[in-house]
Amino acid sequence: MSKSLPSWRELPIGAVILQPGSTVRYKTHEWRTLRPVINQDKCIRCRLCWAYCPEGTILELDKPYTTKAGKVYNITYEVNYDYCKGCGVCAYECPVKAIEMVPEVR
Ligand code: SF4
Ligand code: SF4
Repeated sequence: MSKSLPSWRELPIGAVILQPGSTVRYKTHEWRTLRPVINQDKCIRCRLCWAYCPEGTILELDKPYTTKAGKVYNITYEVNYDYCKGCGVCAYECPVKAIEMVPEVR
């Protein structure tokens, strides 16, 4: 756990979030035991992982990618590992099983 986190006595009543966007300071990846790895060659850019991720940590990037079979995509999906909690929803929902959950190594 980060040393910069406040103690429970410093939290607002009910632990409500007082400032929109303030949770960006809390990198929530530390409890992850599995990490999703996207196989860019298998990914068909359907966007379902982006839509289903409960943390909003699938990034849709304007980053061209050419598969080994020669198919060209103008976007690439990547995981923001600072906030991914390793729940596996993205891997479960991916229709072509392009996401593999692998053991986290720190
Ligand atoms: S493992 Fe969970 S939190 Fe991480 S990218 Fe997939 S759906 Fe989002
Ligand atoms: S759900 Fe699977 S195929 Fe669809 S964009 Fe995500 S990784 Fe690619």
